[in-house]
Amino acid sequence: MSDLEAFRKETRAWLEANCPPEMRKPSRGEEDTCWGGRKWKFQSDAQRLWMQRMGERGWTVPEWPREYGGGGLSRDEAKILREEMRKLGCRSPLDSFGIWMLGPALLKYGHEEQKREHLPKIARGEIRWCQGYSEPGSGSDLASLQTRAEDKGDHYIVNGSKIWTSYADKADWIFCLVRTDPKAPKHEGISFVLFDMESPGVSTAPITLISGSSPFCQTFFEDVLVPKSNLVGSLNKGWDVAKFLLTHERDMIGGMGTNSGGESRSLGQIATESVGLDNGVLADTNLRGQIAALEIDAWAFRLTMDRVGDLVKTGKINPAASSLLKYYGTELNKRRMELVMAAGGFDALEWDGEHSHEGRNARAWLRSKANSIEGGTSEVQLNIIAKRLLNLPGV
Ligand SMILES: Cc1cc2nc3c(=O)[nH]c(=O)nc-3n(C[C@H](O)[C@H](O)[C@H](O)COP(=O)(O)OP(=O)(O)OC[C@H]3O[C@@H](n4cnc5c(N)ncnc54)[C@H](O)[C@@H]3O)c2cc1C
Repeated sequence: MSDLEAFRKETRAWLEANCPPEMRKPSRGEEDTCWGGRKWKFQSDAQRLWMQRMGERGWTVPEWPREYGGGGLSRDEAKILREEMRKLGCRSPLDSFGIWMLGPALLKYGHEEQKREHLPKIARGEIRWCQGYSEPGSGSDLASLQTRAEDKGDHYIVNGSKIWTSYADKADWIFCLVRTDPKAPKHEGISFVLFDMESPGVSTAPITLISGSSPFCQTFFEDVLVPKSNLVGSLNKGWDVAKFLLTHERDMIGGMGTNSGGESRSLGQIATESVGLDNGVLADTNLRGQIAALEIDAWAFRLTMDRVGDLVKTGKINPAASSLLKYYGTELNKRRMELVMAAGGFDALEWDGEHSHEGRNARAWLRSKANSIEGGTSEVQLNIIAKRLLNLPGV
């Protein structure tokens, strides 16, 4: 038996023994996601146990080095772990901006003390992070950001405001872009800092989305003291860290195109319940064709994500490929949610009530509209693809 086959066998046995049965049911979306953090309230003992067991093994972040709380797995081993989890229907034990975004950036740009301080807490779900990038007036043109950090000797004093800060009211710490040299060209005077959301001078105000929920906030900083040891990378070189982190954010958002958005039934099942079968196949031929086309595109996209992931790891592809994944994955997810609504008929429009689980699909459909805005809009991704991947001339 090869090493990888042996690893697969052991992994499967461990998952079978350790994943609680409740964590093997399909996730119902946001309400089943475990985000961790100081304020986190587990929805069940099974959810807590599953996060703790996977965290102890480093399998919440399988490919991070062991000394920082990771599993130390190779890319092939991590793939096997994901495959075996999928086969058993295991839910993700922990999802967080720390795992998807800050962790990779700290591994590349953080100094040793920062890695030892922050990475294990992310891996064990102890600290939840939010992202302080966008500002009123600085979204697509992120480098025009105005939040200031003034040098006060051994610390900075931060003043300004961020907007669309997802989960700012639930997060413990923030990774934040600040201007440290107002006189430098805009990309060169930015730094990347970390601070506790409980620091005096930090406040948040929720913003409501069309889906009816309020997952994000405007965030205000008034004379917030940030120790200089919380600067990641070099002073005024935060743009490099920011761009690197964005490639990970875009991969993560693009990955939405490969899953079912929290709906446990397949599109075929939803449509069958709504329009019925004719001679054993979906009665609505047009809908049948659209569902088949989407499933084929989703499979092709899954394979593309895997292939691009391998190429990125070996440095054989431009990191701007994450824009391609982000663009296509989010369009795919929006297409899927349109089909969920079409397949579900009138019932799918229900906004509350037990039958629709408080309008889960209708709300998820509206939420999906933001996919092609968050993490950089589709238009901006197309600009990046044109310039950096296709080498087309700029205008
Ligand atoms: C659900 C959600 C969650 C988010 N979470 C966070 C978060 O946690 N932290 C954070 O910092 N930010 C977050 N954002 C903000 C997000 O990154 C910005 O909304 C995004 O970058 C776009 O910026 P903007 O909203 O200012 O739009 P604008 O930049 O004002 O863009 C308006 C329109 O102009 C177009 N446009 C702008 N520039 C160009 C150009 N050069 N070429 C072609 N078209 C252009 C855009 O495509 C868009 O259609 C979130 C956004 C959403 C929707």
